[in-house]
Amino acid sequence: MNHEHKDGCIFCDALGRADGVENLIAYRGKLSFIILNRYPYTTGHLMVVPNDHKPSMEYLDDETRTEIMSLLNLSIKVLRAVYAPEGFNIGTNIGDVAGAGIASHSHFHIVPRWGGDTNFITTTGNARVIPEDLDQTYVRICKALADLI
Ligand SMILES: [Zn+2]
Repeated sequence: MNHEHKDGCIFCDALGRADGVENLIAYRGKLSFIILNRYPYTTGHLMVVPNDHKPSMEYLDDETRTEIMSLLNLSIKVLRAVYAPEGFNIGTNIGDVAGAGIASHSHFHIVPRWGGDTNFITTTGNARVIPEDLDQTYVRICKALADLI
């Protein structure tokens, strides 16, 4: 591998595995990739991650930053096609104090939003909200990406 890689990092580990429901990578660009969040805030919660193991975007090269923007755009397009969200939250948490789950490897969240965030979510007994099964989300996102690209 010609990019910086760190053993024990979930993003670097995912990069080293075959794509599927185990590693949750839905799309690989040249310098970055789209991966499903294993613990989604809402159904369809994606992340765009540079291949390079760097703690913050300013350590990446321009080409990588440019590709990340293009994969964020692709993520919006695929989520619109599959889930028709009414809005999105997109952002990156830099550093532990900012709430970064994996602070050592930069990543950008794309969280689709709906009014009340109840669309495409099944509720049981009005109490618990259960998002769509992750495997099902993965298959739907990959199929829609194949149509878009
Ligand atoms: Zn890493």
